[in-house]
Amino acid sequence: MEKGMSSKGLIGLLCTMGVMMVCIMSAMAVVSNKADESDTEKSNAQTEVQQNVQDTSIDKPQTDAQEQTLSQQTQTNEDISTDNVRLEKKDVSKTPHIFFHSLIVDNDLAFDNDEDEDGYNLYMTTVGEFEAILEQLYENNYVLVSPHDLYIQTADGFIPNELMLPIQKKPIVISQDDVNYYSYMTGDGFATKIVIKNGKPMCEYVLEDGSVSVGAYDLIPILDDFVAKHPDFSYNGAKATIAVTGFEGAFGYHNIIDPDSPEYQKECNAVRQIAEALKADGYVLASHSYGHIQCGSADVETLQKDTNDWSEQIGSLIGKTDVFIYPYGDDITSDVSFDSYEKTPKFEILYNAGFRYFLNVDSSRSAWMQTGTRYFRGARRNIDGYRMSHYPKEMSDLFSDVSLIFDDSRPKVPDLS
Ligand SMILES: [Zn+2]
Repeated sequence: MEKGMSSKGLIGLLCTMGVMMVCIMSAMAVVSNKADESDTEKSNAQTEVQQNVQDTSIDKPQTDAQEQTLSQQTQTNEDISTDNVRLEKKDVSKTPHIFFHSLIVDNDLAFDNDEDEDGYNLYMTTVGEFEAILEQLYENNYVLVSPHDLYIQTADGFIPNELMLPIQKKPIVISQDDVNYYSYMTGDGFATKIVIKNGKPMCEYVLEDGSVSVGAYDLIPILDDFVAKHPDFSYNGAKATIAVTGFEGAFGYHNIIDPDSPEYQKECNAVRQIAEALKADGYVLASHSYGHIQCGSADVETLQKDTNDWSEQIGSLIGKTDVFIYPYGDDITSDVSFDSYEKTPKFEILYNAGFRYFLNVDSSRSAWMQTGTRYFRGARRNIDGYRMSHYPKEMSDLFSDVSLIFDDSRPKVPDLS
């Protein structure tokens, strides 16, 4: 899987993975109980560890009381700004993690009967759908947290974090994959790159007349606007986890992997600046591999080279990250026995590159996660045309009414089952 991977290839592989992941995740169910037991055993160490967590916010109380009353300090005009809010410790193992790809800005261009239409229809979400999703998550009392808010690394392994949120609130993690603005998407109604405007990450979008507009054309600026309006939708300023590959650069800057390009230096500087701005804005950056490879079926040498390429060409610009998001949800192994994961050569490659949080895909349950001595491993759920069209009932924990989210102007979404 090298440069120029076609969307057709992407879709074909995604379809294959859909079948594979069912098998992998069925096996995972067996170990999830074991992970839970382990979590219980480790919970005694929790209080001690919690004291090491930097306590800069009232959302992270200093005692381990199950429930307490604290003054919530939100800085805006929300009506909770001076009220006392009762907090409680959340069971982080129940936290759903949902993910998206680039959002469709112009349905007419995305769904224009070309070879990419089905892929967009299946695996993408429209801007309007995403905005409705945020509204419903907020109405249903979800609060954005980071993957790092769920489990924390200690000398004894990864243990559940003591996450305190207002009593009626529930944590959720959001991520976005392939924030690369691949060339195959050009002209199909998507943003083309991230830019910084007035210190904030925004997106460029090419209008019909060829002029370039800067605005909220993808998940990041839309989420920023939503959190600005509803600060209590974000815990400690957490936003989304943003995953990038490398074979076409990052954030829409395709020349950062070509030192011979006259744009190379300028684009490298832009990507550095964007990464800093995103992190300052509450985003977590993640690797999605360099070549969008299938980590399960790739041989060890391929994974090693891919990991080196990502670290050297992308990680060197966006900074270190400990989050790895598997392309196609294809985890390094379908052997999910609790002890074996971190004893595999592939794990060692990713671990040595600095990764500790590993995320695959499983939409068959609300949440799944597993911890080991050296890792956190979790499943994510795709919220896209395919899932909303064919599995709306399976999202009832997230949304009160998927029919109010789903964009009826989409073509009929293919059924992969
Ligand atoms: Zn991907």
